[in-house]
Amino acid sequence: MKFGKDSKIEIIAVGTELLTPYYQDTNSLYITQHLNDLGIEINFKSIVGDNRDDLIVCINSAFARSEIIFFIGGLGPTEDDRTREVIASTLGKKLIFKEQLLNGIKQRFERRGFEMPSVNNKQAYIIEGSSVLENKHGTAPGLWLEAGEKLFILLPGPPHELKPMFKNYVWPRFLEFQKQYVARRVLKTSGLTESKIESLLSDVYPLLPSLKLTILAYPGQIELHLLSRSLESHKKADGALHDLERDLKKRLGENIFSSLGEELEEVIGPLLRQSQRTLAIAESCTGGLLGHRITNVSGSSDYFLQGVLTYSNESKIQLLGIPSDIILQHGAVSHEVAEAMAIGIRKRSASDIGLSITGIAGPKGGSPEKPVGLVFVGLSWEGGVKVVKNIFLGHREIIKSQSSQKALDMLRLHLLQ
Ligand code: AMP
Ligand code: MG
Repeated sequence: MKFGKDSKIEIIAVGTELLTPYYQDTNSLYITQHLNDLGIEINFKSIVGDNRDDLIVCINSAFARSEIIFFIGGLGPTEDDRTREVIASTLGKKLIFKEQLLNGIKQRFERRGFEMPSVNNKQAYIIEGSSVLENKHGTAPGLWLEAGEKLFILLPGPPHELKPMFKNYVWPRFLEFQKQYVARRVLKTSGLTESKIESLLSDVYPLLPSLKLTILAYPGQIELHLLSRSLESHKKADGALHDLERDLKKRLGENIFSSLGEELEEVIGPLLRQSQRTLAIAESCTGGLLGHRITNVSGSSDYFLQGVLTYSNESKIQLLGIPSDIILQHGAVSHEVAEAMAIGIRKRSASDIGLSITGIAGPKGGSPEKPVGLVFVGLSWEGGVKVVKNIFLGHREIIKSQSSQKALDMLRLHLLQ
């Protein structure tokens, strides 16, 4: 049977590293997800090391049972990358040199100021009868080979090369085999626990069978993953999802901070920009994480003026102008110091809003009165100041991450008022 809509499809991931505990075959999951979205299933999946004989066994058994075979990896320039060569010899096909490919690879090196090493020459050879899938992010071209009744698709291993190649040149060609339409949304929430969300949504679960709602909990953030399927059209799938999203928004209100997958730092940007307000921050236990997150967003210089990392008492006094007796009296991790930090940074930077974090990230440094995870977040604006006391659970990194999350969320809620 020639490959087509009802083909058996399989994926072979090639790479000795994938047989160790240190590397995972994530590429096949990516391919599987995208094909599943079209209603197309994968029938077999295997992982094989960079060994010629083992690869031949794999190719032959795949050949015997499947019409469409994906090969991932082994297209690199090194000695152990031999997927292309082994498939060609197993199928009795020649490797053909492509001048144009070689020039493209040479130019990639030249742009970085290097000369192409001779080992890369082999990447300019394609299997007889195949067409090239362009690699804009690396030197290994992908190959699309229709041989008799079978289809072979060879893709490079590095995920940042495979994903765009698959999405741009492979996935569109599978649209003609599409059996269903899928729409997705990710609603991100803050300020509610997973069990609270479960209880608010308990009666939403027994929905139409074509809708799926999954709740995923991360520290400081609960995500609702929505998926809708339709056998008729994308519009139908999306429409059903739209109704579900509206219902969820009614129930969870302002706790939903994004529905297109954006992070909190991406959400506060437009809010600050629209209201033409500027932000400055003073952080202690988060060690710069809050500033890092804010500046991860391109264009953040429109509203973000300054961040200071005031770790020691002296730096809080010197850089933020906090009276030393406030620190002496209440301790650096206190409501009063968080408040003074937020006010201090706002005044010193002449920003509209000051945001501060001071806390105990642990694992050492806690006491019965001030346990590990105690974090005060302060927000200061013209005409007001607010401090929230939090007790976060978990290890140091989780406490830092939750603290930055809480600070961004306080800012968001303030901007929404
Ligand atoms: P290769 O095309 O074999 O040179 O692959 C280069 C790198 O891509 C490997 O060292 C892995 O880190 C990564 N890689 C290869 N195959 C996979 C896979 N199936 N899933 C995720 N990463 C992979
Ligand atoms: Mg490899």
